[in-house]
Amino acid sequence: MTPSTLQKKLLHWYGNEKREMPWRNNPNPYRILVSEFMLQQTQVKTVIPYFERWMKAFPTLKKLAVAKESTVLKHWEGLGYYSRARNLRKAAQKIQQDYSGKVPDCMNEIMKLPGVGRYTAGAVLSIAFGQKVPVLDGNVKRVLSRLFLLKENGATRKSENILWETMQQLLPETEAGNFNQAFMELGATVCLPKNPLCLLCPLKRNCQAQKSGKQNLYPPRKQTAPSTKIEVSAGVIFQKNKIYIQKRKAKGLMGGLWEFPGGKFESGESPEQCLHREIKEELGVTIHIDEKLMTVKHSYTRFRVTLHVFLCRIRSGRVSPNQCDEWNWVKTEELDEYPFPAANVKIIKHLNH
Ligand code: SF4
Repeated sequence: MTPSTLQKKLLHWYGNEKREMPWRNNPNPYRILVSEFMLQQTQVKTVIPYFERWMKAFPTLKKLAVAKESTVLKHWEGLGYYSRARNLRKAAQKIQQDYSGKVPDCMNEIMKLPGVGRYTAGAVLSIAFGQKVPVLDGNVKRVLSRLFLLKENGATRKSENILWETMQQLLPETEAGNFNQAFMELGATVCLPKNPLCLLCPLKRNCQAQKSGKQNLYPPRKQTAPSTKIEVSAGVIFQKNKIYIQKRKAKGLMGGLWEFPGGKFESGESPEQCLHREIKEELGVTIHIDEKLMTVKHSYTRFRVTLHVFLCRIRSGRVSPNQCDEWNWVKTEELDEYPFPAANVKIIKHLNH
């Protein structure tokens, strides 16, 4: 199949079958930048309502650049990978300061923005600026691998470079943005990881995996490390109708988000013993546990957390937190004003129920 045959078939299919996405209506560089940050690691249907709320809160790059970090994190709450939100805000600030408020339109400059890698740069340059620059995400890798029976799965630098090069050679002179989006759309809706819908595929007559019945063998699997299980206790400490919360240190996992205090089990500890020890270490007080509130299970990329949550009160001592950036006593209904990690959001929903 020549590149021009592939381009024609794919662009024709995309014209008829593309899904509605709010950033596609008005693909200006700021909106594409925001959508691409959100789409890193997250599916389109999850991103859409976040994107719409985001555009109401931060309709321009300038508004985002001057927003407080906690406000930005609050609008990201539930999307995960919070470093994306922090980087997006920093990128907006850099664009304001160094590029007169205009998203840079060349590869060297756009790659200087925090959180912008080769994929995001390619997406913004091709979709928002119409430049002939490729993208390569999981969907594109899968379609390429199956179309041409490539053994490359992008797991090593060398194999990823081969896939970038292949994609570069397939790009049309014009419409690179649509072509890139068509490739990603095909991977997301037709060339699915398991059981691709080859009968509906515009490239079925040209696809080598389809011809040889090897769709499910491509791309070759990567070795993945098993995810670790972690047991954690957390305390919802009440005092005079208010609850204690603390802000995680800015550097580190989920930095800048608020949380209920607690921590990981040490060897041989019960959930209650763990909580007594953690609160003593973190806040310098002893507590009385009134009752178990709930158990929350939550999966992150590399680990699965079981969170044992208890309602408690302070028994003795004066609260003097030593492992957080800020702390506060808030009413239950005020908890929604603070950004929390996803597992803690489940506790808040339960408390507000
Ligand atoms: S024919 Fe099947 S395997 Fe090949 S690209 Fe289309 S959906 Fe994927």
